[in-house]
Amino acid sequence: MKILNPADGASIAEIAEDSAAGIAEKYSRTRAAQPAWAATSLDARLATIRRFKDEVARRKADLARTLTREMGKPIRQSHNELDALAGRLDFFLEHAARALAPERVLEEPKLRERITHEPLGVVANISAWNYPYFVGSNVFVPALLAGNAVLYKPSEFAALTGHAIGEMMQAAGVPADIFAVVSGAGAAGAALVLQAVDGVFFTGSFATGARIAAACAPRMVKLQLELGGKDPVYVCEDVDVQSAAESLADGAMYNAGQSCCAVERIYVHHRIHDRFMDAFVATVKGYRCGDPMDEATYLGPLARAPQLTVLERQVADAVAKGAKLRLGGKRIARPGNWFEATVLSNVDHTMELMREESFGPLIGIQRVADDAEAVRLMNDTEYGLTAGVYTPDEARARRILAQIRSGTVYWNCCDRVSPRLPWSGIGHSGIGLTLSTYGIQAMTRPKAWHLRGA
Ligand code: NAD
Repeated sequence: MKILNPADGASIAEIAEDSAAGIAEKYSRTRAAQPAWAATSLDARLATIRRFKDEVARRKADLARTLTREMGKPIRQSHNELDALAGRLDFFLEHAARALAPERVLEEPKLRERITHEPLGVVANISAWNYPYFVGSNVFVPALLAGNAVLYKPSEFAALTGHAIGEMMQAAGVPADIFAVVSGAGAAGAALVLQAVDGVFFTGSFATGARIAAACAPRMVKLQLELGGKDPVYVCEDVDVQSAAESLADGAMYNAGQSCCAVERIYVHHRIHDRFMDAFVATVKGYRCGDPMDEATYLGPLARAPQLTVLERQVADAVAKGAKLRLGGKRIARPGNWFEATVLSNVDHTMELMREESFGPLIGIQRVADDAEAVRLMNDTEYGLTAGVYTPDEARARRILAQIRSGTVYWNCCDRVSPRLPWSGIGHSGIGLTLSTYGIQAMTRPKAWHLRGA
């Protein structure tokens, strides 16, 4: 498998892909090793994750460079991801014991009832490239803490990072057959799903998620899918226009818009629409685009070349249907996967841009008459990952957000994930959840104990 630098198209490494037979062998080894791992104490497993955290801190500068070279994330943002990873690991370290503790739910003289949280066994974790440390660790860290063995397949667009994670796990004392890295692209993922694993935890696109769900259905295997979004934000007329525009431009363009919870659609109250549009465009114009290795760069290349065609198609479709291009709109002519930061106004829901995930530095801004129209448009989607409202009026925000179908809602913020809160989607955004204590328990099977006797 060739690893290309999306900033210039140069080949930076080659790594061997696992064959289907190789994946089956890794599966057998993890299956054989898992009971001994589950039998270790939680304290021992916590100690390995603490050491993993130390390894990440020790190698941080190198890891950030690798991530930037293989997926194009600006180096400052790679550092931000690694810094925030430490906070996520701390959450799991602090809360695993409570989440995994047996529960006494009835205590009577002749009858006791208990719940224990048993590991699932061997789980497959098929991951995405856009935040490989976050989306990977959301699954594999609680899975390991709960006593599971993990077959981790990083994305082919973050493969070097995936292998570095494997090395750090081993250095931290997690046996190689308890955390095994599977190398490869879609074919390796498909072969992994066919193993007799006890759980499949997937992060990626709706299209791949649907394929994986179909492959798992006959086996009744536990399945979690964290998929894409078309995340809307509504800006009310009572906001500070400048600060709302700055916050939302960042939410739309950070990581070149390649976040599952990136702001993908903006609805603006008609009274401030034009002022907001001007402030938004001015903010985006100020973003420095260029070499992702440069500390001052905010906008880098896209990780995947085919996404350039998706963005071009969305722009052409929108413009043909009457949208106005306020900024950008085309590829940047240089080697690698570059697209201009792009802002469109006069958009509506007949346009692909307002319906399909863009996953790039592209945003449509639509004028709305009132709160009711904003709510109707925000809910007019097959996705349901996050949604936000900007207004100083908390009661108004709560009233609006209560009507929105989505796993996460934001008031005066966006593109934000907290390890303390469950991360989940509705509809095409997926099934199941990660993070929070519920996300730790998601890696387990609750076992019910009916204990009758003295
Ligand atoms: P993708 O679906 O192209 O690939 C995801 C993973 O699936 C990769 O590891 C890939 O090799 C593997 N894969 C591909 N075909 C497969 C098959 N047939 N069987 C098994 N595995 C297969 O997605 P991507 O481009 O890596 O990630 C971008 C998508 O992920 C976006 O839609 C984004 O919104 C979503 N995402 C969601 C979340 C979330 O938490 N909801 C987080 C990050 C990314």
